[in-house]
Amino acid sequence: MSETRLRFPPSPTGYLHIGGARTALYNWLYAKKTGGKLILRIEDTDVERSTSDSIEGILEGLTWLGIDWDEGPYFQSEFSEDHERAAAELIAKDRAYKCYCTKEDLEARREAALAAKGSLAYDGTCRRLSKAEIAEKEAASTPYIIRFKVPERQGILSYDDKVLGKIDCNYTEIDDFVIVRSNGKPLYLLCNVVDDIRDRITHVIRGQDHMTNTIRQVLLYEALEAPLPVFAHIPLTMDTKRAKISKRSHGEIVAVQFYKEHGFLPWAFNNYLVLLGWSPGDDQEIFSREELIERFSLERINKSHSIFNYRKNDPKFFTDPKAISINEHYLRSMDIEELGEYVREELKKEGLWKEDYAAEEKEWFLSTLDLIRSRFHTLKDFAQTGRAYFAEDYTICDKARKKNLAKYPELQQWLPELAERYAALEPFTLEETERVAREMAAELEIKPGIIINGMRTVLTGQLAGPSMFDIVMAIGRDRVVQRLRNAVNLFD
Ligand code: GLU
Repeated sequence: MSETRLRFPPSPTGYLHIGGARTALYNWLYAKKTGGKLILRIEDTDVERSTSDSIEGILEGLTWLGIDWDEGPYFQSEFSEDHERAAAELIAKDRAYKCYCTKEDLEARREAALAAKGSLAYDGTCRRLSKAEIAEKEAASTPYIIRFKVPERQGILSYDDKVLGKIDCNYTEIDDFVIVRSNGKPLYLLCNVVDDIRDRITHVIRGQDHMTNTIRQVLLYEALEAPLPVFAHIPLTMDTKRAKISKRSHGEIVAVQFYKEHGFLPWAFNNYLVLLGWSPGDDQEIFSREELIERFSLERINKSHSIFNYRKNDPKFFTDPKAISINEHYLRSMDIEELGEYVREELKKEGLWKEDYAAEEKEWFLSTLDLIRSRFHTLKDFAQTGRAYFAEDYTICDKARKKNLAKYPELQQWLPELAERYAALEPFTLEETERVAREMAAELEIKPGIIINGMRTVLTGQLAGPSMFDIVMAIGRDRVVQRLRNAVNLFD
């Protein structure tokens, strides 16, 4: 088999959203799986709606996800000569014709058809013009558009879809569609096919919303005498109420950028995306890059719509819980050195990164991450919930302050006292620090929990977290002593 060539051709009219990213991922996976190429083509022929910000956003989103391409980015607007040449070729072959009907003509016919409950399809007026009539229109420089001449065939037009099987359409349902506007600019339907032919695309994997285009494009391939690519139409992503997800109705949450900004790991997000519309056939949900490339197949793409399970009013989940749980899985189990790279960037953004963490304190840095990650959801947590490990300006959560400090005002004396015992303790080990804290609780005839929870609140600002004496070790003697001495400032 010759090389597979796939493409991702976004229109740069907005941000890279979940649906687009998933399409890109499927194309990328299939290219990788088959040892083929992925071509990135920016379909910027809609000049009014295309923006450079959008192009930048799309490239940034793909780069963040690690979806790399082998060719491009090509810009569709740079190939207008090819598109115009194809339109001329179709006219020359009598597979397209100039249509001189004015907007007013078309509107009037449409209204009449509506009133008579007849077909709204183009009625073929200009298709039937005689040579003399055409010559007359041309002589008068009558403005025109170009329409494709749908063959007058009986029966069914079909193509095979890798996901949906055989797709049929009755010829009578396809009217002579427009391929060139009155300003001479070829339309997307044609440009897209001309570019795919030129780029020798073998597989077109795209959303089911393009299926009405595909049937027309099949006719264009035939007329341009080019082989049909393999088509695979992937299900649309809906919200829980079965409405198509969009920025207008769902906000930033459907943009890839949102996940980048909210501390998701790129591979974890790909892993989430792939499951929105594809399943491996068993219950495996976590896939390494290599595993996914191996297991991905067009045949196992779902036929029915996928659900972006985001419940707007559920404060527990700021996005689809599945995306969060997959992210947690990676965050909590991935190679610690690799996680270290991500956390470094996160801490840098927050001004919490110290070069020591990369040099002599590297071991401390990585073991601290390993200690605290088990309850974290995203990279953001390292600088937020985990701020006390990297900085002194962490906040004490209200709940913890009320529950663990305000209820026991004596901690104002007990914690500084513990600080002094820790200052003098030799060796300052996990076992010894625990022994000293428990011993003090016994002397005071209080539950050790009172001291331990007070320590946790003062040392980390949090209500819950890793085992207390692991925390003491991670924060280190100097900072522990200083924070416990200053505990008095935390009482009103
Ligand atoms: N520019 C089209 C879009 O963004 C591409 C469709 C296709 O994959 O052919 O929807």
